[in-house]
Amino acid sequence: MTAKSPIPRVVVCGGGVAGVEALLALRGLLDGDVETHLVAANSQFVYQPLAVAAPFGLAETHLSDLADIARDAGASLHVDSLVRVDADDRSIQLASGTVLPYDALIIAVGARRRDWLKGALHFGGAANVRAFGTVLDRFEKGMAKRLCFVYPETIGWPLPLYELALLTASRLADRGVTGAELTIVTPEANPLAVFGPSASRMLRELLATRGIALETGAHAEGIEDGTLHLRERPALQVDHVVTLAWLEGPALPGLPADAAGFIAVDEHSGIIGLEDVYAAGDGTSFPVKQGGVASQQADAAAEAIAARIGATGTPSPFRPTLRAMLLTGIAPIYLRAQVAGETGDSFELAANPLWWPPSKVAGRYLAPYLAGRSPLTRSEVLEDRPPSREDPLKLRRRHDEARELALTFAERDAAQRDFESALHWLDVLERIDGVLPPGFLHKRAIWQSHAHEES
Ligand SMILES: Cc1cc2nc3c(=O)[nH]c(=O)nc-3n(C[C@H](O)[C@H](O)[C@H](O)COP(=O)(O)OP(=O)(O)OC[C@H]3O[C@@H](n4cnc5c(N)ncnc54)[C@H](O)[C@@H]3O)c2cc1C
Repeated sequence: MTAKSPIPRVVVCGGGVAGVEALLALRGLLDGDVETHLVAANSQFVYQPLAVAAPFGLAETHLSDLADIARDAGASLHVDSLVRVDADDRSIQLASGTVLPYDALIIAVGARRRDWLKGALHFGGAANVRAFGTVLDRFEKGMAKRLCFVYPETIGWPLPLYELALLTASRLADRGVTGAELTIVTPEANPLAVFGPSASRMLRELLATRGIALETGAHAEGIEDGTLHLRERPALQVDHVVTLAWLEGPALPGLPADAAGFIAVDEHSGIIGLEDVYAAGDGTSFPVKQGGVASQQADAAAEAIAARIGATGTPSPFRPTLRAMLLTGIAPIYLRAQVAGETGDSFELAANPLWWPPSKVAGRYLAPYLAGRSPLTRSEVLEDRPPSREDPLKLRRRHDEARELALTFAERDAAQRDFESALHWLDVLERIDGVLPPGFLHKRAIWQSHAHEES
């Protein structure tokens, strides 16, 4: 790397999971040894995974100002869009016309989402919470009976679809709604097959217990007059269909891309064919499109850059580990798999958190940062934990007791007008379950406004 400026300049493009993880990793590895810039089309970081629980009033999509994150990571923020990479000149062009030189560049602009099933609600996160709430409302009022969740025939991340189905079943049961027919249609041979046979078995049982029908190896072809057509299978009668968007690569001028626009990278996240240009996240050609994977690719890029400028030793290559916290409507289930492509070769499943801090997006630097919202030190990184050997029923009982205790303290402190403490207990509760119990989002808003008034 030939530095263009006295201190090497690293430019990160994209203010999502991979971009923020890259910034935090650069800060953790190279504190002050590089000049870091973040180019983001958005001024806020959107934490999408909790959007699945938002229509049920169990969580809110968390938003954080990128200006705060950039400050904590010691980076300069440019709210602007990358339009072209000029690798020969080692510079990028932004939509505003600004040309930004770099010594190392990380592309983390995510994937493009495309609706593919006409007539279905395409759930892509925060923007679709209201629309899903409207569908839910029709089922609660008995205006609709048959709801189908369809996983597209594409690379991606099926977890949100299973979570939406499980949370819908819980909600309808809680509200005493009977007669609703929920079905999952997926091209997977087994549900969440990427996490291995025990995860698929657990999920099959869970879906059956909640009365959710499952059609595996099934390919949706279209919706017509309340009929969902499947390839070489009998059609299903439906009132509503919910699916996930089809993902396409960013196809940015100046960068190589495959036929679908995705960027091919090597095991250090270096873009194949370019020097000192890296890519991480949903925009790369790695088949699993998941925040934890995006973070690991970002970490590999940051380590490679740190090694290139001579600040650290041999960089660790990207060896994907999938970590998922499955929201079930009761307590979350934790899954971990070492993957070598699209299927895993080592699988774990547990009721206790398999990493710490527990989080939906298991980013090495991102998860502790979002949990603590404090400036980083090197030691603050995500840690793996083993599955508990305790009897699952006992573990569940302890989990329920911890939840009850946190709720009791929260209510007690709020009654004594110690709203800061009550809110702290809700944070603990959210960490234990991934979401809040019904009704507590509303209470949190009220307690926050009291805490604000009294501060
Ligand atoms: C409903 C839902 C639930 C999910 N649940 C989980 C989960 O439980 N666990 C998990 O690990 N993953 C989950 N995911 C997947 C996870 O959110 C994505 O894999 C992850 O966000 C990908 O990170 P990324 O940085 O590549 O892309 P993104 O997070 O999409 O970020 C890309 C960013 O780049 C910006 N950008 C785009 N173009 C440009 C440009 N030209 N110039 C500058 N900036 C640009 C965008 O504004 C965006 O902020 C979920 C996804 C959804 C939709």
